[in-house]
Amino acid sequence: MKKNLLTGISLLLVAAALCCSCTVNAATTKTQTGTARPVSIPKKTTAKSTKTQASTSKSTTQAATKSTPQAQPKAAAVSTSGYQNVVTWGKKHGMRAAWTQKNKTLRLSNDSTTIVLNIGARHASINNIKIALCQNVKMSGGNVLVSTQDINTALEAITNPRKNAVRIVAIDPGHGGSQPGAKHSGKAEKDITLLIAKEVRTLLQNKGVKVVMTRTTDRTMDLKTRPQIAAQNHADIFVSIHLNAASADANGAEVFTTTPAGAQSTTPDSGSTAATRGNKNDAANALLAYHIQRQLVQKVQFSDRGVKRKRLGVLYDTAMPAVLVEAGFISGSKDQKKLFNATERSKIAKAIAEGILSYKKTVESVKPTPTKSNTAGKP
Ligand SMILES: [Zn+2]
Repeated sequence: MKKNLLTGISLLLVAAALCCSCTVNAATTKTQTGTARPVSIPKKTTAKSTKTQASTSKSTTQAATKSTPQAQPKAAAVSTSGYQNVVTWGKKHGMRAAWTQKNKTLRLSNDSTTIVLNIGARHASINNIKIALCQNVKMSGGNVLVSTQDINTALEAITNPRKNAVRIVAIDPGHGGSQPGAKHSGKAEKDITLLIAKEVRTLLQNKGVKVVMTRTTDRTMDLKTRPQIAAQNHADIFVSIHLNAASADANGAEVFTTTPAGAQSTTPDSGSTAATRGNKNDAANALLAYHIQRQLVQKVQFSDRGVKRKRLGVLYDTAMPAVLVEAGFISGSKDQKKLFNATERSKIAKAIAEGILSYKKTVESVKPTPTKSNTAGKP
């Protein structure tokens, strides 16, 4: 931490308004190590996604004109390369499209999902949970366009998940030892994250899930070690628990995933945007973040700061689906009531555990693509 103080200060200036010191530390470490990118996976991922972008955007742009709520002749003044008509995409999933505010707010919905998109905004709402996007939602030729990257790593990822299994969960209580994280009102982030993490562990174990903790005591650990412990123990997902810090009127929860390749993070960051190992799981990362954020908002009544993207030190090079939960503000007048009281804090732990279990249930209940006899759905 001391060695890269100068880098830390410049990042601090950017991040201080919103993020806790954990986010700053992580970003600093990322800058330190970010130049040495992993080799094998990124090339494959990038090549694949570029190909998908090229093929899908062409076909959907052609098919696009008729299906927008307000059909118009095609006259693309805005660049539509790498974008898809989101109404056409929605139709594939049986979603109806309607303007809730003409040419401003589009609503796509079917029986299970509602997506709200605002023209010009860089976020979506999926079932009332805010999800950061990599690119702004655009309008061109009467069509509402969402980048193919955002379709793949947000909309499709969350509403049409891929089959997966969760047997072992890695829980990472942020900070520890000589790194207290954010401090406020005589409390340290490292202590609260450990208390929450231990409760999450118990709740998951009670449901038969194996849990690996990166630390169970107040000890110093560097950021790289944490996902390594998860990998060594064959964890299927990695969940890092942190708290935010800012002024007393800043309150709410947010969940970070690493930023998809080539895209800017939700709050601007410096350094390379090249693909990293964490991008292999872009879709699962978003799905896991969504399920945890949804529980935190619905069950603990946290203000919804959204699922966000940032190349954090414990996320960008992590082998399995990974998220960093900012479970409220240690400095927030509302959030302190949740964080400093044991009964209220247990609700946070329960929401994180329920989010993980909800993700597990979702990915494990996805039907295998080739539909044979129904063997997967039996208890
Ligand atoms: Zn932190």
